[in-house]
Amino acid sequence: MNLNKILEYQKLDSDLVKIERQIKDNSNKKLANKMHEKMREAQDRSLKLEEKAGNIFSEIEKVKKQFKIQQDKMEEFSSKDIQKLSKEELNKLVALKDKLAQNLSILERNLSSLAENVNAVLADFNKTIKTFNSSKEQFSKSKEDYESDLKAVERNKKEIEDKLKNLSKSIEPKIMEAYQKRRKENIFPVVVPLINNSCGGCHIELPYANISKLQDDSVLTCEHCHRLIYKANN
Ligand SMILES: [Zn+2]
Repeated sequence: MNLNKILEYQKLDSDLVKIERQIKDNSNKKLANKMHEKMREAQDRSLKLEEKAGNIFSEIEKVKKQFKIQQDKMEEFSSKDIQKLSKEELNKLVALKDKLAQNLSILERNLSSLAENVNAVLADFNKTIKTFNSSKEQFSKSKEDYESDLKAVERNKKEIEDKLKNLSKSIEPKIMEAYQKRRKENIFPVVVPLINNSCGGCHIELPYANISKLQDDSVLTCEHCHRLIYKANN
């Protein structure tokens, strides 16, 4: 097996690895993802706030109904002809009226605190909408920037890929397959020299039995990092 071709392939492939890493670590892509996440959070928040506002409004409706009931009772008592009541009935009426007035003032307080809650929810809602809009704007911009970054390396990437494809035709299928399998697993470099009886990738010392089997034109798989190890000719 001639290892020169696979080494040549790997050298060219390292340029592709560099480009792939640049794309993976692209700051515009990361920013776009972050902004997208913020948009989703804002959407979730606005849904929760909507639900909260709905609850407060139904709470307000309940208080209003109770208010109306108490008010009607008050009016009913006010319209009574007190001249016709006994002293006992009159006392009862006064006590009831006091109680109603008390209830009304409690309900009034409840209403004003509910109104405060509504205002807080509205303020939060406005803030959330603003966050959503600014995130959306930043997202579109970052996405556009990322796409133009991609375009900038696209041609170079394609050129390398075409060259690699051509080169692969002159490489033994078995080793090419082993190479591609590791490459997909993000192992790079894939083919490394044996250095002082150790793997040139992870530097773990190899068992002597394995080294003795390694011929000049063959490769050995490192049990630790799974790289393909070859014997350097020198
Ligand atoms: Zn190794």
